[in-house]
Amino acid sequence: MKKYHLFIDGMWKDAVLGKTFYSYNPSTGEAYAEIAEAGAEDVDIAVNAARNAFENSEWSNMTPSDRGRLLMKVANILRENIDRLATIESTDNGLPINETKYIAIPSMIDVLEFYAGLANKIQGSTLSSPSNRFNYTLKEPLGVVGAIVPWNFPLMLTMWKLAPALAAGNTIVIKPSEHTPISILEMVKLFQEAGIPDGVINVVPGFGKDAGNALVSHPGIDKIAFTGSTKTGQLIMQTASKNITEVSLELGGKSPNIVFEDANIEHAVNGAMFGIFFAQGQVCASGTRLFVQETIYDEFVNRFIEKAQQIRVGNPLDEGTQMGPQTSLDQLEKIEYYVNKGIDEGATLLLGGERHKNIQNGYYFTPTVFGDVTNDMTIAREEIFGPVLSIIRFKNEEEVIQQANDTLYGLAAGVWTSNLQRAHRMTQKLKAGTVYVNTFSMLDTVAPFGGMKQSGIGRELGIEALQMYTTTKHVWIDLNEDGFNWYGV
Ligand code: NAD
Repeated sequence: MKKYHLFIDGMWKDAVLGKTFYSYNPSTGEAYAEIAEAGAEDVDIAVNAARNAFENSEWSNMTPSDRGRLLMKVANILRENIDRLATIESTDNGLPINETKYIAIPSMIDVLEFYAGLANKIQGSTLSSPSNRFNYTLKEPLGVVGAIVPWNFPLMLTMWKLAPALAAGNTIVIKPSEHTPISILEMVKLFQEAGIPDGVINVVPGFGKDAGNALVSHPGIDKIAFTGSTKTGQLIMQTASKNITEVSLELGGKSPNIVFEDANIEHAVNGAMFGIFFAQGQVCASGTRLFVQETIYDEFVNRFIEKAQQIRVGNPLDEGTQMGPQTSLDQLEKIEYYVNKGIDEGATLLLGGERHKNIQNGYYFTPTVFGDVTNDMTIAREEIFGPVLSIIRFKNEEEVIQQANDTLYGLAAGVWTSNLQRAHRMTQKLKAGTVYVNTFSMLDTVAPFGGMKQSGIGRELGIEALQMYTTTKHVWIDLNEDGFNWYGV
């Protein structure tokens, strides 16, 4: 079995207490790698290494242009390793190889290239000042960033934090999910190969209650960048409040996807399928609540089910696979719990709803569709994070806006219509960080991504994300020749 270590100060180390844990291959259910498990002691060493690198290493003296060039060099090495990283990610997490090789890995390299290009474009401003003084601002790095990431897109969601943090000159300690630490450890090897100075990136695999909590409560951390569930986000805010540590939170969602009768039905069916079944439904922005106007409900549902039946579920490393296994057994059991809830509360199970019968091992679930769902049912209110769609009938625009916004979350929303005025009215009224029109679940490095309400605080990606990894310092220079005068004394 392959062994992995903590990555601290440029070295591969055992945990201080000698603990380890296993990573499971979700397509077989078998443990396939043993990883050193960080505890509070290791996190402390990692934060100190990151602090030292921030204050004293060649990193702290590197020009922004050189930083950008170094990050671009890493991006080039990552490009040469796309196939290998995609295979590692699909093995550890279960994402179909097409979704890692052609979507997740290339897009995370694009993110690194984008921020590498911005490293020497971070600038403050000269403020309007009277003639006897000079005021300006500096944009400075925060210091040591703690990044805590989930298991659904381990490399991509890490890079959303790592790239802007490094471009701005910070150092970082990353806590991967206990379910998927491998690809992140493999990726930092490539950063090291490119020449990233020791201590700039540190990785402390382990569990949330130990390593994660130690990172959030560490007084040497200047900012926590978190992606994960809303429940954990709440805990992190509480813990971070002790040291008034800045937090950005990318949390859960229950996104509405709304199909009006004037939409192109074929396109809407395809978009809604991608919106729910992409990455086995383990997408924070998933279009889990599909609102369909009553006049086209039956036709839409029939066409949707016909297509969803044809989804190829199988080994994630097989190029023909459209849906792989869920990432963990916990997740599989959670999905089963919600399916039973849906049935108990009176929704109509139209497709799936069970573990995959033809695949004996691994955490495979069938594409699942519920019809006749109402917005107050548990399956329409709570995040399932699996391939389970709730279809809800609606009458008109006013009613659907009210129901779409009637949720704790506000991450994404979709509208399918051929009416331009309606599209704009809807984009204005939907309370979500991203609104898609005639498409769903799209991402672009340049476009800020994040949530309203309990879906989070802050925006990742785009130029906007640099705000989260810099602080503003105001400088006031007195130009008076006769110096400072207080009450004429
Ligand atoms: P999770 O909240 O269980 O865990 C996320 C990370 O937090 C893991 O690394 C975990 O070890 C750590 N953690 C857990 N408890 C902690 C604690 N007390 N202190 C510090 N760290 C702790 O989430 P998950 O199950 O890994 O991921 C799924 C969730 O992530 C879903 O809710 C999904 O919507 C959300 N998500 C959001 C986005 C987004 O951009 N908004 C993207 C992907 C996933």
